[in-house]
Amino acid sequence: MDQAPVYYKSKSEWERLWFNHGKHLGRKGAPPSNSRKNKHRVECASWSKVWFPYGIKFFAHQVPFPPDITANIWERAMGLLFTQTGLDVNCSLRTYPPKNNLRPIFDLATTPQQDEISYARFMNALATIQARHLGAIFILTGVHIRRYDWSAVPRGEDDKFNHGIANMQAGVGLANIGLEEDVAVSNICHETLHLLGFYGHHHDYSVRGFGDNESCVMDPNNDHHLLCERDLLAVRSFWRGVEQRLGQRFFR
Ligand SMILES: [Zn+2]
Ligand SMILES: [Zn+2]
Repeated sequence: MDQAPVYYKSKSEWERLWFNHGKHLGRKGAPPSNSRKNKHRVECASWSKVWFPYGIKFFAHQVPFPPDITANIWERAMGLLFTQTGLDVNCSLRTYPPKNNLRPIFDLATTPQQDEISYARFMNALATIQARHLGAIFILTGVHIRRYDWSAVPRGEDDKFNHGIANMQAGVGLANIGLEEDVAVSNICHETLHLLGFYGHHHDYSVRGFGDNESCVMDPNNDHHLLCERDLLAVRSFWRGVEQRLGQRFFR
């Protein structure tokens, strides 16, 4: 934590970086029919799967609220995200437990007491089962999320647990939403943005031409709901890159 930010000398350098990143990673999102003999399926070992064209499936797991409140929180977060970014990525909220072949993954991801969920267990479960599901999987949970090494330390709490974690290349996300509503909305936005390509945090970067002290949802130390101008440009550029690579529209 708190390393010196990576410096970019211009807005255009910043924009190009994210565009190229999206273009590079968009390759992994090529639908199977576009790839030569499904070769990339082999490249994307086990859990690293093709999700960009299929969007994100959110599952509510052990959330302490009734389904309508959970849906409200989720809809607020999606509204904020997609209004601000202009992105049009297919997202849906599903009931838990899922009926399909994802179920064993969820069972393996939680502790036997079902009181804690672990990203490491989750990833192991995905790798073990080699699920052939389409789309990214995002779990909205009310149980503790076991801390993972590279994830952000939660706001002022025991650092055994995270508020959330997400991995864009793996197409998975977890967020604790068993919290005050504004914090829950902020958590969903923050982790979904990691999943949508913004892998860093607000203070990891410094770009000439943008102020560093704006409030931003990618600052894990606040409950802000919106991206700063600089990081919004990053997310939009990333998806422009994905669009170019895949020849598919992801903006409204
Ligand atoms: Zn984060
Ligand atoms: Zn920011």
